Amino acid sequence: MTPRGDVVIGVDIGTTSSKAVAFTVDGTAVGSGQVGYRLRSRKHGYAEQDADEVRNGALEATRDAVEQATEAGHHVVALSFSAAMHSLIGLDATGFPLTPLITWADNRAVDQAARLRAEPRGLALHQRTGTPVHPMSPLVKLRWFAEVQPDVAALVRHWVGIKEYLLRRLTGSLVIDHGIASATGLFDLHKDTWDEEALAYARVSADQLPEPMPTTATLPLSREGATLLGLPAGTPLVLGSSDGPLANLGLGAVRPGDVACSIGTSGALRVTSDRPVVDDRGRVFCYVLAPDRYVIGGAVNNGGIVLEWLGEAVAPDLDGPPALLDLAAAVPAGCGGLLFLPYLMGERAPHWSGQPRGVYLGLTREHRREHLLRAALEGVCLQLALVLGSMVDAKVDIRDIRATGGFSRSPLWRQILAATFGHPIGFASSPEGSSLGAALLGMAALGILPSLDAAADVVRVTDTTRPDRAEVETYARLLPIFDGVFEALAPTFADLAAVDDRLPLHAPPS
Ligand code: ADP
Repeated sequence: MTPRGDVVIGVDIGTTSSKAVAFTVDGTAVGSGQVGYRLRSRKHGYAEQDADEVRNGALEATRDAVEQATEAGHHVVALSFSAAMHSLIGLDATGFPLTPLITWADNRAVDQAARLRAEPRGLALHQRTGTPVHPMSPLVKLRWFAEVQPDVAALVRHWVGIKEYLLRRLTGSLVIDHGIASATGLFDLHKDTWDEEALAYARVSADQLPEPMPTTATLPLSREGATLLGLPAGTPLVLGSSDGPLANLGLGAVRPGDVACSIGTSGALRVTSDRPVVDDRGRVFCYVLAPDRYVIGGAVNNGGIVLEWLGEAVAPDLDGPPALLDLAAAVPAGCGGLLFLPYLMGERAPHWSGQPRGVYLGLTREHRREHLLRAALEGVCLQLALVLGSMVDAKVDIRDIRATGGFSRSPLWRQILAATFGHPIGFASSPEGSSLGAALLGMAALGILPSLDAAADVVRVTDTTRPDRAEVETYARLLPIFDGVFEALAPTFADLAAVDDRLPLHAPPS
């Protein structure tokens, strides 16, 4: 077959699946693979995976993308990697996992996080490392191991995340890119090294961690890796970054002031900046995308999952999201004074507390399930509007806002987001967000594209949703009330958490 051009494969190791997509220099996907795996919960609050199952899934997805691209006559010139943030695996001296892969969603370190947040050094660490003090953070997970399972911690030779575990298999080197490192809570953003105070708190030493390298650094594919992937040994592997920052690039939002919003199962809002900053109250994260390019923002746990929950709990007779959204469209903005705090899965930004739970506030006898539905969509968007406010407080410019994720299939949900933000929102036709971001970063790193900005220009906005003025006013009035409810209920959430363990969800089997 005649050669049809060079491609770079972006590999995204996600929480539910790994996706590998081969892209040409104009961003066209010409081959892909996707392999899912299990997320397990042995105990309330735990969210673990099998490190080898995930690594094998990523390898298989990559192999499939290589095969498809090659069969179509393309030449795979490089791989570049994205991964879910905050994962942690303890390895023994031979590189064998001694712990499960503990994901960002794992809440076991809730006490450690609450204690560190209450200390002044908690905020100082967040501001230096960019990672909020929260159970998701490897910093507090490591402290959990030191306090709760010191016998396991004593056996661990290296602590790594899933991308480092995969890259070791493909290259033989134990390295971590600055993007993933900046999501560990252990990495000083201003010095690009492990932070001494963070290491001391976590009770680990720098030689137990991988070597930090820029996100644009490359390593050659080893001979063993070549066999695993069906590519020549020596193929350059660009380290890449984590899925959040790379989703900004995958949406073309990488110039300072460009915002990327995603609402999939969870949600996130991230603005690109040319300097690392965290607001005074420690509400935003700051992660590395590339040298001198950071993304600042917040992730929310409760995105589309809220709609899924309502479908199961309140409207099981309706067939899927489109029917639920049609019903929600029947009621006006503000839902007759009904607010929904969407904390079904605790919450991250901007309050970073694991304790809050979902709340409907303002129910009257007239409210029907269509109100419950629309209020839930509004709650997801109002929470993201709070995150936008915290980014403004961190004194970063907001210029252009783009969005992506499953929610964007609904014109109603797009409209609600634009109105809660009070800003037009652009949509690009790039469903492969983080894989495309990884591939584009790879192309910029290897000089296939001249710069990161040029890489971002590959992605074009295809559609814009403009906010309705009356709805903007409605949500501007509701937002401070929504914010105030969280503040007012914070002690109540703590009281509830204290009795929660004694209140089972289901009756014991008789
Ligand atoms: P993930 O984050 O797992 O990649 P997606 O980006 O595909 O997920 O988004 C999944 C979410 O999209 C679901 O939780 C659901 O709430 C929402 N969704 C699914 N179908 C539609 C639809 N037709 N319109 C709007 N939202 C939808």
